[in-house]
Amino acid sequence: MKTYTNLQHKKVLVLGLAKSGFAAAELLQQLGAFVTVNDAKPFEENKEAQLLLEKGITVICGRHPEDLLDEGFELIVKNPGIPYTNPIVEDAMARNLPVWTEVELAYLVSEAPMVGITGSNGKTTTTTLVYEMLAQAHKKPLVAGNIGTVACGVAQQATSENIIVTELSSFQLMGVSQFKPKVAVLLNLYDAHLDYHGTFEAYAEAKFAVTKHQDSSDYFIYNADQAIVKRYAERSKAQLIPFTTKGRTAHGISADETKIYWQGDAIMERAQIALPGEHNLQNIVAAVATCLLLGCEVAPLQHVLQQFSGVKHRTQFVSNRQGVKWYNDSKATNCLATKSALLAFTAPTILLAGGLERHHSFDELGDALTNVKHVIAFGETKQRLQKFMQEKGIETTLTDDVTTAVHIANQLAVLGDTVLLSPACASWDQYESFELRGDAFINAVNAL
Ligand code: ADP
Repeated sequence: MKTYTNLQHKKVLVLGLAKSGFAAAELLQQLGAFVTVNDAKPFEENKEAQLLLEKGITVICGRHPEDLLDEGFELIVKNPGIPYTNPIVEDAMARNLPVWTEVELAYLVSEAPMVGITGSNGKTTTTTLVYEMLAQAHKKPLVAGNIGTVACGVAQQATSENIIVTELSSFQLMGVSQFKPKVAVLLNLYDAHLDYHGTFEAYAEAKFAVTKHQDSSDYFIYNADQAIVKRYAERSKAQLIPFTTKGRTAHGISADETKIYWQGDAIMERAQIALPGEHNLQNIVAAVATCLLLGCEVAPLQHVLQQFSGVKHRTQFVSNRQGVKWYNDSKATNCLATKSALLAFTAPTILLAGGLERHHSFDELGDALTNVKHVIAFGETKQRLQKFMQEKGIETTLTDDVTTAVHIANQLAVLGDTVLLSPACASWDQYESFELRGDAFINAVNAL
């Protein structure tokens, strides 16, 4: 861990605990700060607060006192889940106090170079691919963020021999002030989380923070197929590495129907790639570029791409039963993700979809339904889905949940079909998480 002395004897407030707040509080204490944590969960039920109290950290639990900031804090480290409309955060901003997320702390103490991967969709897939490829190339990667351990926990363990690969949400990126990854990746920008950010511009600005502090010794890999991302890239001071899947280019990384090209030279055959889908091809080229820039040879990257069949719950191949292929894409909680998944398959498809009612339109699915022969709908949106599909001329069966949907799909499917769970809706009406919804699918398929 790097010696970082700027926080010594500073009064710091950690707002919101859970794993990230806990790790931040511990690290801040190690860095010599006077730490107070404030968390909504009552102390008796709050394991993290109890542990931190034992370490001599001040804990205020069960409420957010309005006058909390009168205690003279110099820095706030907030959990990314806490919105900027939170009264304490608003008060901190009004007082011009810096408000960080733990990613910033991780960067400040990390001896290892960092790779920061962001975008509206594809972060986890790309992060996992980069991690697997760097590992195959013996580059000692450590993965941090949503998958793996909290970034500032990982950063404490890392040496200059490691490379930290971290997936960054817009919520995390809003709280950085010096964060400067060696390689930054911006996969795409779609309307997302506008309930949190207010406007698309605010959301795009938050994503842009991934490259904001980079300089000419760093690299910014970005989606050159999206005009909005290209426009943002013009503002980056890093070396620009565009990616495209719309044909060979002389600069950056590109793909056409058959090959992947690095700086214009063919480096890989697409036929050797296991992961299906045009959207995944974008994730793949971004991941390959990252690893090449970090000094990997092509062979280990190729080896990983021949094996890698997807991250759990993301167009994950589950089984091939009597010529019917079953895929779990439970992570597809919006139409764009379901559309990407549908476009990845050319076989006649039975789509299992539905879930939490957010009154979002299903129109975006329209172009991608060509191969869908039947929809099995469940959850709060099932009636609305049925109406939408009927208008498209696609037969729809209503059912209770994912498990019963699997049974119906099993009766309908014939040799050569694909059955795809890709709900286009969040899971919370029936399942605690998209992971549990995906597990219900896997269990039901395996039990057939
Ligand atoms: P994230 O971590 O950004 O949520 P994931 O890798 O978990 O992204 O993928 C979530 C869903 O988004 C997947 O189910 C897939 O269908 C879709 N998806 C993945 N990569 C892309 C991409 N590059 N562009 C559009 N959609 C994508």
